[in-house]
Amino acid sequence: NPTENYTDPAIRRRDTRPVQVGDITIGGGAPVVVQSMINEDTLDIEGSVAAIRRLHEIGCEIVRVTVPSIGHAKALAEIKQKLKATYQNVPLVADVHHNGMKIALEVAKHVDKVRINPGLYVFEKPQDDRTEYTAAEFADIRDKIRQTLEPLVVSLRDQGKAMRIGVNHGSLSERMLFTYGDTPEGMVESALEFIRICESLDFRNIVISMKASRVPVMIAAYKLMVQRMDAEGMNYPLHLGVTEAGDGEYGRIKSTAGIGTLLAQGIGDTIRVSLTEAPEKEIPVCYSILQALGLRKTMVEYVACPSCGRTLFNLEDVLHEVREATNHLVGLDIAVMGCIVNGPGEMADADYGYVGKTPGTISLYRGKEEIKRVPEVDGVQELINLIKADGCWVEPE
Ligand code: SF4
Repeated sequence: NPTENYTDPAIRRRDTRPVQVGDITIGGGAPVVVQSMINEDTLDIEGSVAAIRRLHEIGCEIVRVTVPSIGHAKALAEIKQKLKATYQNVPLVADVHHNGMKIALEVAKHVDKVRINPGLYVFEKPQDDRTEYTAAEFADIRDKIRQTLEPLVVSLRDQGKAMRIGVNHGSLSERMLFTYGDTPEGMVESALEFIRICESLDFRNIVISMKASRVPVMIAAYKLMVQRMDAEGMNYPLHLGVTEAGDGEYGRIKSTAGIGTLLAQGIGDTIRVSLTEAPEKEIPVCYSILQALGLRKTMVEYVACPSCGRTLFNLEDVLHEVREATNHLVGLDIAVMGCIVNGPGEMADADYGYVGKTPGTISLYRGKEEIKRVPEVDGVQELINLIKADGCWVEPE
């Protein structure tokens, strides 16, 4: 029996160093962190504070904002202060889509982490020079990048703040495209270059991302990044995401395919699902991915059969009713199965089971043990009674 020795199905996560972002830890064995981004213009202080708070209240543990100008960067001081005064000190990340350091240096004073995109640090050869980059030219460009980046790295280091080196497949620098092509290799080299600069300045509070809108590219880039980091003795945590995943069902599936595939292999310490929808919609998707993989348990786990010709009640309606009654009992696994033929055996070790027995009758299970048979009309109430009798019930808030 090949399943006999299969005793520990838990995902073994890759060891990384812990990176502190405000009071949240990314990596270092901490639970995978959920993050998202507000769409508000940060010059709109009230709107931004409200949006950050809305996201944080539904479980977004780190909130990202964009800072396209020095005015936006300064506005972050007020946003941070207002959050602290009226709500709490939500960990904030600022996206600096700019080569210039003035904005980054200003915003670094007010937020907990700064995200930079290596692809935007452009020191290229003249457009009419199409010869390959020599090692000396690469070294020279790296020097220039180092000089540009140094004040930000030093500022973050001295304040105990973090940086995300966020590589995007769609915005590799011309030098990387020219040398490595539009490939995961180019993405990884871009990140490594920046990591080495940070390390040379004794700064290691770094998180890395390798986002792409095509799932296979994104998966390949993260896996290659892990390989290269392992080879070089680096253990930075990874921020996972599929960019431009779109909206609706396919956007969610695409994100889950990319993020879930990597998480299942132990790769990834913080995630963002990027949907073309309100950011609030991203948070439940993040938590569902983590729950499905057994990485975080933040809701009741429902096990339900798909129903078939043997089903003895309206499964969809009963599952809905059971969920409505019990979805606040985080930590429990509850099964709703259409019949006793396969139901009890396939409840996947659920804590409680609601199983069709005969037409009009259901059986309630505690684990694998059948506890009682009751008329179907009383099924949900009896299930609640059983959970209460076991002392596992709490009243919904
Ligand atoms: Fe059909 Fe019973 Fe399996 Fe549900 S548990 S799919 S009703 S055989």
